[in-house]
This record gives sequence, C-alpha cells and structure tokens, in this order.
Amino acid sequence: MSTENKYIHNALKTVHVKTSCSSVNGFSISGLATYLQMPELDFCVDMGECPLSATPLNHVFLTHAHGDHARCLMRHHSLRKMMGVERDSVYYMPESICEGAKAWIKSEAMFEGVSEAKFRYPEIVPVKANERVTLRYRKDLVLEPFDVKHSVPAMGTTLLLHKKKLKDEYLGLPTEKIIELRTGGTEITREVFEPLVSVMGDCMGESLLENASVFNSKVLVTECTFLDEGEESMAHKKGHTHISQIVNALNELGDEVKCEQIILSHFSMKYSEKHIQEMLEKRIPEKFKERVIAFI
Ligand SMILES: [Zn+2]
Ligand SMILES: [Zn+2]
Repeated sequence: MSTENKYIHNALKTVHVKTSCSSVNGFSISGLATYLQMPELDFCVDMGECPLSATPLNHVFLTHAHGDHARCLMRHHSLRKMMGVERDSVYYMPESICEGAKAWIKSEAMFEGVSEAKFRYPEIVPVKANERVTLRYRKDLVLEPFDVKHSVPAMGTTLLLHKKKLKDEYLGLPTEKIIELRTGGTEITREVFEPLVSVMGDCMGESLLENASVFNSKVLVTECTFLDEGEESMAHKKGHTHISQIVNALNELGDEVKCEQIILSHFSMKYSEKHIQEMLEKRIPEKFKERVIAFI
C-alpha cells in the first residue's frame, strides 16, 4: 500500500463535510471503521471508532453488527459515564440484532470485571423497517429505518424533520385572523415530515433503487466500496455497492434525485485517495458531479 494512503486510512482522522442540515463528521473505509457524527442533529450512525467528539451526542443508530461499524458502541457509552454525562445515550438498532448485541455487551462487561450486581444494559431501542421512531431527546426528529441487502441483516435510515405547517387555505391570512382561528379551536396546521439525511449503511447497490425515497433527502450518504471495472460481481458477492450501480440509479432517477449532496463512503482499503477521486471524476455523470463527493 502506498504512503499516500496513510491519511485516508487513519480512522481517528475525522473527515468533515458541511451540509445544509448538519455537518457530517467521521470516517468510513471498508473493513477499517465507519462512524458518522451529525452534531447539529444530535445523531450518530455507526460507531466503528469513538473519538471524544462523539461523546456529547445522545442518539446512535447502528446499521448492522459488523465490527468495523459496531465495535466502539460500548466505548461511547462508557466514555460518557467516565466524563460525567448523566443522560443515557440511546442506541437504536435493527430488532434482529438486539439479542446478539445484548449478549456481546454483557460479556464485554464481564470480561472487564464488572460484577453481575452492578451490570446494567445501556438504553437499546429495537427498530423495524418503515416504522418511525421519534428521537428520545429531539422530539422534532424522526428516524425511519429501512431494510437493505448486505451479507448480514442490515438497515439504513432516514432522519426526518417533523414540523407543523400552516394549511394552504390559511396562507396569507393576517396574523390576528390566524390567532382568532386557533383560539377558536380550528386546526390550522398540518404535519410535515421533511427528509433531511439518509444513510444506507453497508448494502448491495440494488438497495438504492429498492429504497428510492432516499433520493428525496437533502443529504444521502451511501456506500461505494468498489470502483474498478470487473469488480461488479465481487461487490455483489460481498454484499457491497459498485460505483456503476450508483451511476445507474442516478441515471434512472434523473430529475427525481432531490439530494443537495450525495456523500460516497466506505471505499475499499485498496484504493488510494487519488484513485478514488479519479474514478469519481470518470464515472459520475456530469449532471450530478457537483453534488457527489467522496467521504475521504
Ligand atoms: Zn462495512
Ligand atoms: Zn458490513
């Protein structure tokens, strides 16, 4: 591996991307580690490493059980305790992996010498596909998980902003009239769920079009493990996405792609930064080039 890879392969060297809904800080290289922190949304996806910057964040969504995504989940929990954060962080994860996670968390605690009497599970919330969950400490944010295809059970998620908007028929009315209607008991607002960020997690490329609503989010973070020609079938075999599948989804959806930014993550360790940038330049259609960036 060449020396130029040193930078992009240091999992504690955080990548920062600014978006219109939050900064996205973290790291994601296949097999090494994946973690995404969105401080303005008080939200993390995966915890393959846990730098101190993750400790103030109260909500963590775990996409699947692979070590490079899950390994530091309990480090997050214990660092917070060590630093005196009293609030319990909440760990959302696919229902299918909750039992396994609990067994792992308990045996890790026993390994560290915690007594049975003192042991306590962290706050784990099982999630199901297409069932919305309001974030514990951010009542304005709603999590909507969805199934993706990977080599093990895995989910992606969309984070939606829940807000109330004035119903169309009351738009443009003077404030006094609005107040009068509201105090008179008229329901003048409607509920709106605005998709902010979608994160695919590890998945096969076909999961993109199977969950095409992710392209309505302002920001889409999707994995792009394989880039080279001839690696398409390996991507499928390993349960990952090949760049051609992202290109295919973008071309197929065209103007239906509403994302302001599409962040490609989880590149294979074998590629250099230069190679990744060159392949994006070569493969991403002109129409989308300004919106697609590599998370390196
Ligand atoms: Zn992975
Ligand atoms: Zn994985």
